[in-house]
Amino acid sequence: MDCLKIQTNINRIKSEIPSTCKLLIVSKYRTIQEIDCAYNSGHKLFAENRVQALVERKENLPSDIEWHMIGHLQRNKIKYISSFVHTIHSVDSLKLLVAIHKEAQKAERTINCMLQIHIAQEESKFGFTLTELNQFLEESDWRNLTHIQLTGLMAMATNTDSTDQIQAEFNLIQKTFLEVKANYFSGNPHFNQLSIGMSGDYKLALNSGSSIIRIGSGVFN
Ligand SMILES: *Cc1c(COP(=O)(O)O)cnc(C)c1O
Repeated sequence: MDCLKIQTNINRIKSEIPSTCKLLIVSKYRTIQEIDCAYNSGHKLFAENRVQALVERKENLPSDIEWHMIGHLQRNKIKYISSFVHTIHSVDSLKLLVAIHKEAQKAERTINCMLQIHIAQEESKFGFTLTELNQFLEESDWRNLTHIQLTGLMAMATNTDSTDQIQAEFNLIQKTFLEVKANYFSGNPHFNQLSIGMSGDYKLALNSGSSIIRIGSGVFN
């Protein structure tokens, strides 16, 4: 492991992003030593995409780390992370949100949740379609989930070499975010996050107003 390189990568990325955008370091598949090295650069925002990894890391790393969940989440596993997870980026159904609410209530906490939106032209990616998002916002009783704070939208662009396509997808999610914010969250200061951009496309995401970039390989490779 090259700790200096990890810390140099972090400082470079931080120097490239505006103050309105946060770097979320994706620590999946990395060793505790590698994550500790990133932490020792002064960084405290980390994310995992699997429940088991999230729990293990939480137990083995400093307690002032803010842990985010970014991967597909099964309802029966929420209970393992509900006592500590700061934000869940990957909420892709009302059923899941209701289940998170139940566990948050038991843990006597409020859990920040982002709605994952499917914008990529790939079958494999999870998330609400734009039609499902509208249905969810119009027809469900999400406002009654007192232990959930909806903080924004998350999306992944298509894995493609076409920067035009990626930019178009990010522009669409930004437009959707601004519409949802205006139509359903006016006066709510908490719905203010747009989680877009990974190692390969975060500069395009910044053009579209990203407020959280999720970076793994760009930090650790
Ligand atoms: C792995 C992962 C990332 C980070 O990907 P990199 O290309 O390594 O930066 C971001 N978001 C999600 C949801 C991921 O699973």
